[in-house]
Amino acid sequence: MIFADMHTHTNFSTDSDAEPEAMLESAYARGLTTYCFTDHMDYLFPMDNTQFLFDPKKYWATMSKLKEQWKGRIDVKIGVELGLRDEPDVVEPVTAFYEKLLKDYPFDFVIGSTHCLEHIDPYYPGYWDNFTGTKGMLRYFEAELWNMEHYSGFHVCGHLDYLMRYVPKGKRVHIRKMQDAVDAILQTLLRRDIGLEINTGSLRRNYPETNPSAAIAARYYELGGRLITIASDAHYAEHVAADFDRAEAMLREIGFTEYATFSGGVPKFHKF
Ligand SMILES: [Zn+2]
Ligand SMILES: [Zn+2]
Repeated sequence: MIFADMHTHTNFSTDSDAEPEAMLESAYARGLTTYCFTDHMDYLFPMDNTQFLFDPKKYWATMSKLKEQWKGRIDVKIGVELGLRDEPDVVEPVTAFYEKLLKDYPFDFVIGSTHCLEHIDPYYPGYWDNFTGTKGMLRYFEAELWNMEHYSGFHVCGHLDYLMRYVPKGKRVHIRKMQDAVDAILQTLLRRDIGLEINTGSLRRNYPETNPSAAIAARYYELGGRLITIASDAHYAEHVAADFDRAEAMLREIGFTEYATFSGGVPKFHKF
C-alpha cells in the first residue's frame, strides 16, 4: 500500500480553498503516515488577474506549526510546486526568484512542473488555436525538456504529460510521434537524478490514465528509473490519496516495488 501523498495543495494556492488542517485530517482518516504540502509558486504567471504565489514566510510558519502538532500521527513534509518556464524573456527572473526561495527556505521536497509556455497557460483553449493536437503536445514536451535540463533544486518532474488532459475535443494526438520527445525527458531525469512523479489527479478529470501514463512509467522503468513519488495533487480534502490503489496496481504490473518520500531533499524508499 502507498502511505505517502507527495503533492497536495491548500488555500496557500490560488486555486484551492482547503484548510491545511482539513487536508491532514483527511490524510489521517485515509491511513497515510506521510503527507507533503506542495503549494503553487508560479512566478510571472502569464495570465491576467491571476497570480500563483504565496507568502513563503507565512507558509513556513503555518506548516512548521502543523508539523509539530501532528508529530506521532503524520510525518508532515513542507514542499513546494514550482512552475518552470522556458520563454527566453522570463527565464532569468524566474530562475533568480526560485533560487532565492530555495535558499531562504529548506523545503523537504520540491516539484518542478511545466504549467505555462508560449506566455500562456495551455489549460486555456487559446494555446491550441496555433497547434494540432500532436504539435501542441510536442511543443509542451520541448518546453518541459528545456526546464528539466536547465533548472536546479527540484527533486521530481511533476505530472510529466499533464497537458494530455487538456487537449481539446476533436484534436488528435499521435502517441507514437511523442516517443522521442518523452525519451529525451526521461533520459534527462535519469542523468540528473531527478525523480518521476506519478500523479493521479487526471483520473478525477475523466482522463483514463495517470500523468504520466502507464506507457511512460513503463519506459522510465525500462531505462532503469526507480525514483518515483506518488501524488494525488489534491486541492480538496476529499481528494487526498485519491486513486492510489489504481496507481499502485499499474506500477506493480510494470515491476516497481518501491516509491519514495523526501526529507530535506533526500529520498527514502518504501515498499508498496
Ligand atoms: Zn501542477
Ligand atoms: Zn499541483
